[in-house]
Amino acid sequence: MTAADAPFVSRNPADPTDVLAEFTAPGPAAVAAAVERARAAQPGWLAGGAAARSAALTAIAAAVEAAAGELAGLAVREVGKPVAEARAEVARTVAIWRYYAQAPYEAVGAVHEPAGGPGLLLTRRRPHGVAGLITPWNFPFAIPSWKAAPALATGNTVVLKPAPEATACARRLAEIVSGAVPDGVFTVVPGGAGEGAALIAGADVVSFTGSTAVGSAVAAAATARGIPVQAEMGGLNAAVVLPDADMERAAAHIASAVAGYAGQKCTATSRVIAVGAALEPLREALAEAVRALPVGDPADPATVCGPLVSAPARDRVAGARDGLAVLAEARAPEGPGWYAAPALVEKVAPGHRLLTEEVFGPIAALLPADDLADAVRITNSVPYGLVTSVHTADLDVALYGLDRLDTGMIRVNAPSTGVDFHLPFGGTKTSSHGPREQGRAALEFYTSSRTYTLTTAM
Ligand code: NAD
Repeated sequence: MTAADAPFVSRNPADPTDVLAEFTAPGPAAVAAAVERARAAQPGWLAGGAAARSAALTAIAAAVEAAAGELAGLAVREVGKPVAEARAEVARTVAIWRYYAQAPYEAVGAVHEPAGGPGLLLTRRRPHGVAGLITPWNFPFAIPSWKAAPALATGNTVVLKPAPEATACARRLAEIVSGAVPDGVFTVVPGGAGEGAALIAGADVVSFTGSTAVGSAVAAAATARGIPVQAEMGGLNAAVVLPDADMERAAAHIASAVAGYAGQKCTATSRVIAVGAALEPLREALAEAVRALPVGDPADPATVCGPLVSAPARDRVAGARDGLAVLAEARAPEGPGWYAAPALVEKVAPGHRLLTEEVFGPIAALLPADDLADAVRITNSVPYGLVTSVHTADLDVALYGLDRLDTGMIRVNAPSTGVDFHLPFGGTKTSSHGPREQGRAALEFYTSSRTYTLTTAM
């Protein structure tokens, strides 16, 4: 057996003997066939009209809501998401489908006067055709939905290639969505890098979420074909804490942003920057908050930090903290799940991988800053630019940060995690490539503008 036909196995991170999906990669030909079916279905899906698309998206929202408990349970089992977060993700997924169910009725262009003479100038946005979606495992329902819903609403058809670790979740989502749309309009093709590459080779528009290394290659491949592409990638996000902040509240927000879902969110906090006199009180409050974090079975509603998604992910976190001064850590179960103890580390030397790479685990470095300008400099000193949280009671400080922090999102007195689905989402530098997704920005991404000139023969 070669590596190419070795089966993918999706396991329960809390109990690796529990297998959720096992399959052999279907290969590029299966992807090409799915793209062709989607291409054949697209004109009918568009011509079916706004009311039909709106009704389909409304029905999908209702079906997801009806299956909410089951879907949350599946995310707990397949990707180890703590059940409170899994329920919130499913609720958000329902809201996403409902939000985009209104989009088919929105205006798709504008009317202008010609520069000279009679007639009408019109712009009109039209779908690209087949949207190829490539998604990660960490939000197995919300991310596929926040890409597929605007793509479908605007008249595209969709082929989704989910992460192998979230195959069972994607298959279940496919059952629900396929039940509400005509054949070929929404197809899930499981697989890995080969299927992802084949999708980029066939689609008319590509939306990717995942790591920066893969996303950069995806963006390059799609750009080489001349098709629109967006890639949402990694983060190395900072929390900036001022001396006037409510330390207990800031510490609680930061601990949850560091260790919630074992730090496996692109928006997780991995650097905590204490400005001047904030260092000592924050050090104490954060150490206490980290020690108190509930770590354990993701099926337990009290759990904040569950297991890592895989054994290599757990080992990567252990490697990143190796040799560092641990200020505080929480207790984690021994196993059999892939657990890592959430940790706050300090005295981390500049250039250490914790300060330069996304580790994607429940670990953060506490860093001192001389003043606010120094904190902004440290925050901006990394190749990523997704989100920053700022903790202060001073509006001037918040505004100073909004103007100078080089991240796509800034959250004041809130955790870095937990952004809203109806606003544009994305970052700067290597965190994002191409136009924003979510909110109305997504409706623009999945369409292109046509300009029509209407003149009269009279
Ligand atoms: P990943 O990059 O390993 O995989 C993402 C997807 O790309 C998967 O479906 C994978 O099968 C596919 N893929 C892998 N190689 C490919 C290739 N050569 N061509 C085409 N497709 C390929 O990421 P992951 O481990 O699934 O997810 C974790 C990463 O996702 C983290 O870096 C995290 O920060 C990021 N993420 C970003 C956001 C965001 O919106 N910025 C949100 C969630 C997760």
